[in-house]
Formats: sequence, structure tokens, C-alpha cells
Amino acid sequence: MANSKYAYVRNYELSDSLLPGCFLVCRLDGHSFHKFSEEHGFAKPNDKRALELMDRAAMDVMTEYKDIVLAFGESDEFSFLLRRSTDLYNRRQAKILTALTSYFTSCYVFHWSKYFPDTPMRYPPSFDGRIVLYPDERSVRDYFAWRQVDTHINNLYNTVFWALVQQGGKTTAEAHATLSGTASAAKHEMLFQQFNINYNDISARYKRGSVLVQVKKARTMVEVLHCDIIRDEFWKARSYVLA
Ligand code: ATP
Ligand code: ATP
Ligand code: MG
Ligand code: MG
Ligand code: MG
Ligand code: MG
Ligand code: MG
Repeated sequence: MANSKYAYVRNYELSDSLLPGCFLVCRLDGHSFHKFSEEHGFAKPNDKRALELMDRAAMDVMTEYKDIVLAFGESDEFSFLLRRSTDLYNRRQAKILTALTSYFTSCYVFHWSKYFPDTPMRYPPSFDGRIVLYPDERSVRDYFAWRQVDTHINNLYNTVFWALVQQGGKTTAEAHATLSGTASAAKHEMLFQQFNINYNDISARYKRGSVLVQVKKARTMVEVLHCDIIRDEFWKARSYVLA
């Protein structure tokens, strides 16, 4: 096969190797999960089973690809951090991205019935993916802070939104209109005054997302946390993550 007269077509393949020495972040996101979540009866604002299934798929990815030292998940997305010196697939972008995306997707489908025993899958879900290079620790930290702040902002919005709809009897259009332009403090106030919900009491899983980290001593183990990754504490306790 290697030396047929057709083999020259190989030369049309372009190199896509990622810069050495940079951290790789691969983010996957569910395709049209607004629809997928509705079609499969996800609880709103947060379906715990769906989040646990995402965590499970991510954990399998980290078990399979040991160069992923950290992952962060929220909603229908997961970000994977590969150590900066990784040599996975000779750092070929397409190989890494397609392998991680397809493995994550098939684990999601593979484990579906354990998390949704009463809900048949009505059609196959898919995920898109991208890889972004970060040159230093600061930008990696800021990347993960960005995702966790996003989790918080979305969760606060969704919590009030669905309280207005489910308990306040508003239509989704009315709830959108009520919330448009409101500051965070006003949303906290609305939750407390109208629905007697103290935002601080809401599960850390929903407020902070899922942090999956390779346990240093046993490289095959992955820890699932719902902790702050914006401040220094998490990173200082795990200096190997950015090593
Ligand atoms: P795109 O294909 O552009 O990503 P999308 O419909 O997936 O479109 P996202 O911005 O990724 O849009 O948002 C994902 C949506 O999936 C959320 O807005 C929410 O409606 C739904 N969703 C995802 N996970 C959950 C969950 N655990 N519980 C409830 N709803 C969820
Ligand atoms: P890589 O991850 O590098 O692609 P690979 O093991 O998948 O490694 P390939 O060169 O892609 O290697 O070869 C696929 C192999 O899968 C074949 O060599 C064969 O052993 C097996 N295989 C694939 N399809 C079939 C099939 N229909 N029947 C029997 N064996 C198959
Ligand atoms: Mg092949
Ligand atoms: Mg998207
Ligand atoms: Mg999506
Ligand atoms: Mg999303
Ligand atoms: Mg093959």
C-alpha cells in the first residue's frame, strides 16, 4: 500500500502540529442541546443526571488520555487541559481533537442508560470541539476562571428564569423580559423575595460546575470536585497541574 503509484496523494495532507511548549485546551460543546435537553425531558434549570453523565464521559476520557491533567464541565460543555509537554499524536491538532471528541461522544452514549434508565435516546447527540493554545500559566488560569464565571452567571440567570416560569406562572417570553438588563444583586433579591430561594443554598455542582483532576500519586484516578478554581488555593494545592 505504502508505495503504490497513488501514494503521492499523501503529500496533499498539511501539517497541523501544535506549537511546542504551550498548554492545550480542548473544549467540547453539545450540538443543539437546547433541543436535545427538551426532547429528553431534562429538568430545568439543571438536570443532575445529565451533568453526572457529562462528568462520567469526561472521566473516561481522562482515564484513556493520561496527558489530560484537568477538566472543567458545565451545562453541555467540557474543557480538557493537556499538559504543556504532551506528545499525544505528535501534537497533531486534527488527531487530538477528533480522538477526544469522538471518544467523549461515544462514552456519553455508552453510559446514557445508566443515568437515564427511563428515557430512551431519541436520536444520536453530537459534540463540536476546538483546541486553543495557551502560552503560560496565567492564561490557563484565566481560561478556567472565565468558564467558571460563565457557569455562575448562567446559573444565576437560569435559576431566576425558571423560578419565574415554574413558580411565578410567567411565559418564557415574559420571564426573559423581566430579567433583561437586571444586575446580579437584583436577581438574588428577586429569588429571595418572590420565591424564598437563597442562592447561596444552591448546590455547588450548579454554581461552580465540575472540576476533574488527575490524582497525582495514582495516575489512573480522577477526582470530581465542585470547588472554586478562580482563586489561588486550588492551584497551589496541585502545582503539578500546571507543571
Ligand atoms: P450550540 O449547538 O450552538 O452549542 P446549544 O443549544 O447546545 O447550541 P448552548 O449554548 O451550548 O446551546 O447551551 C446548551 C443548552 O442545553 C442550555 O442552554 C440548556 O438549555 C441545555 N442544557 C445543557 N445541559 C443541561 C442540563 N444539565 N440541564 C438542563 N438543561 C441543560
Ligand atoms: P490506529 O489507531 O493507528 O488507526 P488501528 O489499529 O485502527 O490503529 P488501522 O491501520 O486503522 O489500525 O487498521 C485497522 C485495523 O482494524 C485493521 O488492520 C484490522 O485489523 C481491523 N479491522 C478493521 N475493520 C475490520 C473488519 N471489517 N474486519 C476485520 N478487521 C477489521
Ligand atoms: Mg484504518
Ligand atoms: Mg456551541
Ligand atoms: Mg451546545
Ligand atoms: Mg454550551
Ligand atoms: Mg484505525
